[in-house]
Parts: sequence; C-alpha cells; structure tokens
Amino acid sequence: MKNEYLQSVLIESSQIDECVREMGRTIASDYGDEPLTVIGCLKGSFIFMADLVRAIPRTLHIDFIEVSSYGDFTESTGNVRIVKDFKHPVKDSHVLIVEDIVDTGLTFDFLFDHIRLKQPASLEIAALLVRKSVDRKKRPIKYAGFEIGEEFVVGYGLDAAGLYRNLNHIAAYSPT
Ligand code: 5GP
Repeated sequence: MKNEYLQSVLIESSQIDECVREMGRTIASDYGDEPLTVIGCLKGSFIFMADLVRAIPRTLHIDFIEVSSYGDFTESTGNVRIVKDFKHPVKDSHVLIVEDIVDTGLTFDFLFDHIRLKQPASLEIAALLVRKSVDRKKRPIKYAGFEIGEEFVVGYGLDAAGLYRNLNHIAAYSPT
C-alpha cells in the first residue's frame, strides 16, 4: 500500500508475530485451567485479538466491547463511552482485556471500572503497545507487547480515520 502520509515502519510483522506467540504462551501458563474470558476492545484490537487468542492453547470465552474516545482523527476527545457492551457473564471468571494501545490510559481506567462492577475473579490487560509516558505503577499492564514514544501509529488493527488497519506492520503516521 503506497501512501505519502505513511512513514517509517516502527514494528515489523515478524516482530509482532513473535511477541504475540510468546504472550499467548505466557497467558496460557499463568491461568492454568481456571475459567478465562478474553474481552477484545474494538475496533483497534481486532487483529491483535484474533492472533492472540489463537496463540493461547486452551478453552476460552471470547467477547468484545466497543468503546469510543477518539473523534475521526488523531486526537482523543478525552471522553470514553460504550458503543457496544460485552455480553458474557464474567462473575467469578478471570477476565483479560485486550487493547491495541494504552495511550493516555483513560480507556484502561474506564474498562477496569466498568468490568470490575461485574465481579470477575481477577482482571488484567494485554496491550500490544504501551506509551513510554504511561505510569505503569498506577496502571499495571500485565501483558505488554512493545513500548513506543509519542508518535501516532497505524496498522495491525490501528487506524487513521478508518484507514490502514489492514497493514501487517505498525507504522508511524503524520498528516502533515
Ligand atoms: P487512551 O484511552 O489510552 O488514551 O487511548 C486508547 C485508544 O486510543 C486506543 O485503544 C486507540 O484506539 C486510540 N489510540 C491512541 N493512540 C493511538 C495511535 O497512535 N494510533 C491509533 N490509530 N490509535 C490510537
């Protein structure tokens, strides 16, 4: 795909594959045979979610929640709202949220508050990307793929105004 706004490849597809496979193995070993529900946060996590759950060799419940905090472009609105809630009852099940990127952490906070109310046995998050600026003491991310800086990124599920989600790699994107 050729586009003048797409910049350097930040994370190659082979690096992502390796990272996701390793994360899947770690998750499988951490949860053993305990009931586990994996909730993908749409839309940005859809490719990561599809690869990650297939890298976890065990029985899982899979559900999705869709939230929105971004407008049509690269700035967060600062307000997280539910577009589509998950359905599977998670009381007494372990829950793993799957996010594409933890940026400001507002979505992280919102999802933790929202899902905790349903009394899961435990609640953790797997994020493909985490900004270096995130305070990981305040927002513990148990499974984190790659740390990145402040660049806006697209690919492997992440979009810019609905485009580029189907790239196999992660690229920096600048509209200017
Ligand atoms: P947070 O609530 O942590 O600020 O942001 C979470 C959401 O913002 C992510 O799930 C993602 O959809 C979006 N987001 C944050 N940074 C980026 C980025 O660099 N690129 C894209 N495409 N989305 C981002």
